[in-house]
Amino acid sequence: MKVCIHRGSQEIGGMATEISTTKTRLVIDMGDQLSLDPDFVSSSLDISGVTDDKIPCHGVLFTHYHGDHTGQILAIRPGLPLYAGPLAKDIMALTAGHSWKRNPALSKRIASIQSFFPGRPFTIGDIEITPFSIDHSACDSYMFLIEADGRRLLYTGDFRLHGIRGKAMDKILDTRVGKVHTLIIEGTTLSRPDQASRTEWDLQDQVRKYLKEYKYVFVLCSTTNLDRIFALARAVPYGKYCICDSYQKSLMDAVSRHWSGLSSFYQMPKITTYGDNLLPNFQRLGGLMFIRANKKFADILRQFNRKESILLYSMWKGYRTRPGSKLPEFLSLAGSWTDLHTSGHASPEDLAHVIERVDPDLVIPMHTEAPQRLAEICPNRKVLLVEDGEELTL
Ligand SMILES: [Zn+2]
Ligand SMILES: [Zn+2]
Repeated sequence: MKVCIHRGSQEIGGMATEISTTKTRLVIDMGDQLSLDPDFVSSSLDISGVTDDKIPCHGVLFTHYHGDHTGQILAIRPGLPLYAGPLAKDIMALTAGHSWKRNPALSKRIASIQSFFPGRPFTIGDIEITPFSIDHSACDSYMFLIEADGRRLLYTGDFRLHGIRGKAMDKILDTRVGKVHTLIIEGTTLSRPDQASRTEWDLQDQVRKYLKEYKYVFVLCSTTNLDRIFALARAVPYGKYCICDSYQKSLMDAVSRHWSGLSSFYQMPKITTYGDNLLPNFQRLGGLMFIRANKKFADILRQFNRKESILLYSMWKGYRTRPGSKLPEFLSLAGSWTDLHTSGHASPEDLAHVIERVDPDLVIPMHTEAPQRLAEICPNRKVLLVEDGEELTL
């Protein structure tokens, strides 16, 4: 089995990794590079057989729907089979079809995605892939166990252990994965030590407290951070409003359609779709409103008593603190505001935990700006640092 990280060996984002045997070539993710500069445009990926038809390639698998893993989907040659989780596919379709960034070509390509299912192995050529549903700030995210040529490789994708379903990881590793030869592991927090010590449940508890203290709680959160949206919506007590707009509701409906049978957590919480006529009722009863940083919600924020309202900034701090960010101005529209966030990525301790659990002969970090730090958290392991485009035979 051969591996080549085309991009992402030393950066967070822009991901694309090739796995191949003599008969089969697969690529995992085709993502955009990330930057704090809002005008930044990712450079395109150029992978033979994927972005052209010069040599055979047999499929592209997506770990999850974040743009740093899917942003280059339209660069993939037409006809090359694509694979993703069923809910991830629906969320990608809803996002691509959303009014303010509608993209018919993207919608058409997303419609062609074939779904795989958690824990159910499938083969492409002579490579067997078992996708496992794991916890991340995108729901329906996957880790892949890849088996070919008598070798076992675990590709974690983006993951964490402190989310709503973080505890599932140990069970998957112990009962379905076991020992692997090679582990390719994301290492975001090696270079970006966010507040990964707080769990999503901690954030839910915190919101319960704010709802007691303030009549109006406004939450600015990524619309596709759906585990968090569900957790915070569930914190709203009976008799108070929980409000979101119709786009947010459509994303929640998709989650509920796919997963309500798996856990009551994913059954639709009581939530009202925003309309101007709702504001007088919200003024009267109070509660929680999911908002976005735009003029419409700026006008809404101005209508509420500043002493009785708080805005919770529930996204990565980097967007708020980057030079030229307009977010501080928006946040100041509420009477007070505070951060309410935890990382979508495993802490260094949790990375070490996963590494020990699968007992790999070789560990390769990616999706990090500090791959060299991985060796510090697992000194007993053989850690291999690779360059983008370097081909390894495992
Ligand atoms: Zn990522
Ligand atoms: Zn991600």
